[in-house]
Amino acid sequence: MIFVLIGAPGAGKGTQADLLVESLGCYKISTGDALRRQISLGTKVGKEAEAFISEGKLVPDDVLLGILKEELASHSEEVVLLDGYPRNLSQANTLEELESVYPVNGAIHIHVDESELLGRLGGRCVCSNCGETYHMQHKAPSVEGVCDKCGGKVITRTDDQEDKIRVRLEVYENQTAPVLNYYQDRKLYYKIDGTKGPKDVFNEIKGIVEDLKGSR
Ligand SMILES: [Zn+2]
Repeated sequence: MIFVLIGAPGAGKGTQADLLVESLGCYKISTGDALRRQISLGTKVGKEAEAFISEGKLVPDDVLLGILKEELASHSEEVVLLDGYPRNLSQANTLEELESVYPVNGAIHIHVDESELLGRLGGRCVCSNCGETYHMQHKAPSVEGVCDKCGGKVITRTDDQEDKIRVRLEVYENQTAPVLNYYQDRKLYYKIDGTKGPKDVFNEIKGIVEDLKGSR
């Protein structure tokens, strides 16, 4: 069984994906991980992808699809969680090409309002030395700008500055909205309120995954 997990930056998708792997034993495929895995295994598609990467090029969609196929083939008996794929409508359509063999059973969308996302992402900072993460509102270092763990300098990553966050959210929105519509049209769409606590969100996702498994 295959399901897609969709969520904006800051919606908690990463946390939920980890929980699904740990608690339900899902096999997670994110394109980044899948690429690295196939390259290190030295498979044919892995080598193809590597050639593009070593030239500093983006891996084209058809090679990416080959990577996905390879991963799905070796985990077809498991509950597969697609994390961050399809990212846009073109990838959703490409994925549909595999449908006769690997149909997507559901797309679960962790929904969080933009204002809430801005609040969550806005206060993020990180130690430039040890990588410990902080949040101005929820987990501030005891001395401003100084890491509790190592005394390093706590900084806001360029990606986490407000103007950059707005751009990231906008890109996500533009690319993802058509994907959500696509799964809605195909009656495979499940929307979850991502403003609840991580545990409640997880239980809801778990319920949907178990229903999907049962109705297969
Ligand atoms: Zn530190």
